[in-house]
Amino acid sequence: MSAENATKRDIRALDLQALQAFFSEHNQQAFRADQVYQWLWQKGAHHFDEMTNLSKTTRALLDAHFVINHIAVDRQQRSSDQTIKNAIRLHDGLTVESVLIPTVTRSTACVSSQVGCSLDCTFCATSQLKRMRNLNPDEIYDQVMALDRQSQLYFGRPLSNIVFMGMGEPLMNYKNVIAAVERITEGLGLSPKRITISTSGVPKMIQKLADENPRFQLAVSLHSAREKVRNQIMPFSTSFDLETLQKSLQYWYQQTRSKITFEYLIWKGINDTQEDIDALVAYCKRVPSKVNIIEYNPTDFGNFEAADHKVIEAYKKALERARITVTVRRSRGKDIDAACGQLANKLIPLES
Ligand code: SAH
Repeated sequence: MSAENATKRDIRALDLQALQAFFSEHNQQAFRADQVYQWLWQKGAHHFDEMTNLSKTTRALLDAHFVINHIAVDRQQRSSDQTIKNAIRLHDGLTVESVLIPTVTRSTACVSSQVGCSLDCTFCATSQLKRMRNLNPDEIYDQVMALDRQSQLYFGRPLSNIVFMGMGEPLMNYKNVIAAVERITEGLGLSPKRITISTSGVPKMIQKLADENPRFQLAVSLHSAREKVRNQIMPFSTSFDLETLQKSLQYWYQQTRSKITFEYLIWKGINDTQEDIDALVAYCKRVPSKVNIIEYNPTDFGNFEAADHKVIEAYKKALERARITVTVRRSRGKDIDAACGQLANKLIPLES
C-alpha cells in the first residue's frame, strides 16, 4: 500500500447516509451515493474506475479521498471430501480462514468474524491465536463473495447457507457482524434465514440481538449443561452462568419465535456420563431448541478425546425420548484442518 493510500479512508466504512453526506459536502447530487453504494455492495467493485455510470470527475473525487480495501485469497486447499479452505489475507497483512462446505444439494460458507479469538475454549485451535482485531463488515462480506464465486465455479451453484463458525466470536464483534449480514443479504439476495450466527454464549449480547428483530438463526456452543464442566472447558463462561444464558435464550425465543440450535461436542471423561445427558435434556426442555452433536476434531493442543459411539447414541436416544430434535454432524474437511475448531492459520504465519 502506498503512503498516500495509507492515509485515505476505506470507503466501505461509510454507510449510505455517510456517503450521501460526502456527496452533499462536495456539491454533488445525492443519488450518486446510491450508485456508489450499489457498486460497492451489489457489484463488488474494487476500483473506482469500474464505476462506469459516474463521471471521470466524480471518480477522481472518490479516488482522492478514499481507498477500497479488499481481501485476497492467498491460498486454497481442497479436501478429499471437496471442502475448500481459504487463507484470506486482509489489507493489513493479517490472515483469517474461510471454508466452503459443499454437500449434494447445498454450498455452505463458513466465515470468520475476528482475527483470532478473545475467548479461551480449551478444545479450540483458534483460541490459541488470541484476538488480534475485529473484522470490518467489508472483510466479512468479501469472504462470503469469494466463497460464492468458488461455489459457482466448482459446483455450479450459488451459496445456499452461511454460518459464522470460522474464527472468532461474532457477538464480540457485534456491530460489524450485523452490518455484514445486512450487506450480504442485500448483495446476494439471500434470505437471512439461511444465515446462522454461532456464539459461545454471551447473554447480554444475545438479549441485545433479540431486540433488533433479527431474521437469521442463532446457534449456541453449549458443550455442557453442567456449570462446573462448562467452566472447565470454556473458562470465560465463569462470568456467564448457565441460568443467565438460559434467560437470554428464552428472551430470544420470545422475541423471534426461532428455536436455538445447541452445538454439542462429547468427550471421553468430560461430558460422557448419564448426569451430563440428563443435564442437557433438562436444559433443552427449558429453552426451545434443537441439538446438533458435532464430531470432535483433534487439534494440536489440549488432551481431548472424542467419546465412544455408544455415548453419542445414548445422548441421541435421551433427547429423542424428550422430543428434542437432534442431529449428529459428521465433520468436513478434517484432512486439511478446515473442520470446526481447527482453524488456526497453520499454513501462513500471522506476522511476517
Ligand atoms: N465462537 C463461536 C464461533 C466459532 S466456533 C462459537 O463458539 O460458536 C464454531 C463451532 O466449532 C463451535 O460450536 C465450537 O464450539 C466448535 N468447535 C471448536 N473447536 C472444535 C473442535 N476441536 N472440534 C469440533 N468442533 C469445535
